Amino acid sequence: METPGNLFVVAAPSGAGKSSLVKALRSFDARVYPSVSHTTRAPRGQEKHGREYYFASDAEFDSMVGNDAFVEWANVHGKRYGTSKKGIQDRLAKGEDVLLEIDYQGALQVRTAFPQAILIFILPPSWEELRSRLENRGEDAPEVIELRMKNAEEEMAQVGKFDFVIINELFESALFDLKAIIHSQRLKYASQLRLRSDVFESLNLS
Ligand code: GDP
Ligand code: ADP
Ligand code: 5GP
Repeated sequence: METPGNLFVVAAPSGAGKSSLVKALRSFDARVYPSVSHTTRAPRGQEKHGREYYFASDAEFDSMVGNDAFVEWANVHGKRYGTSKKGIQDRLAKGEDVLLEIDYQGALQVRTAFPQAILIFILPPSWEELRSRLENRGEDAPEVIELRMKNAEEEMAQVGKFDFVIINELFESALFDLKAIIHSQRLKYASQLRLRSDVFESLNLS
């Protein structure tokens, strides 16, 4: 589906720094709307329903799948996660930029529904660093960390299917890269024509 708003999709193995980067991006750029996913996993420490996720029971998730309410959904680390259509379609249609922080299976499904989506993959600088970030985050039990490390192999093998790759070694540098990707999309002809129609009109170009 063609929309005036840009659809950015960020995927990474758990612990690569996806949430930290997106959160930091938001503090500079309020024009990009982070979609809130539905999940069947339990909330972590400070997570709030409707902020990080909509926490759903298996039955609620089943019913949304049945009602075709998701743009994409996938099984990730044994739990289900999905992006609802309602959350993103209106915004994109109005010309707002939307960012999805989802796993690679979902990212590839989104590309089918929205071929113009911009797919960004975030890599950690090494396996050792990925493990130490998961451990230092202190949010997951040791067996959950093992599962996430194991799944990271399959996830990272998908990097070649993405449009952009950010290596999150130095946080500030990775954040700069993410901002650059988003900024470059807004400089495309169709975006400039929409966002700066005043200039195009004054130059008799529209
Ligand atoms: P959560 O979103 O509440 O889980 O918080 P995170 O642990 O993801 O990140 C907490 C804050 O620390 C966020 O505002 C990030 O922007 C920031 N942050 C995380 N890692 C780094 C880092 O390596 N360098 C800097 N400068 N900030 C970081
Ligand atoms: P994800 O959302 O990909 O699971 P998080 O954003 O929660 O990952 O990051 C995992 C952990 O790594 C967090 O504790 C975060 O503060 C830390 N982190 C993120 N980026 C960096 C970085 N460049 N250097 C060091 N630590 C980082
Ligand atoms: P976490 O439990 O650490 O918040 O997220 C685990 C994984 O689920 C991450 O890879 C995250 O990107 C993915 N995820 C979060 N929301 C969605 C979603 O709506 N759809 C899909 N497919 N994956 C998601």
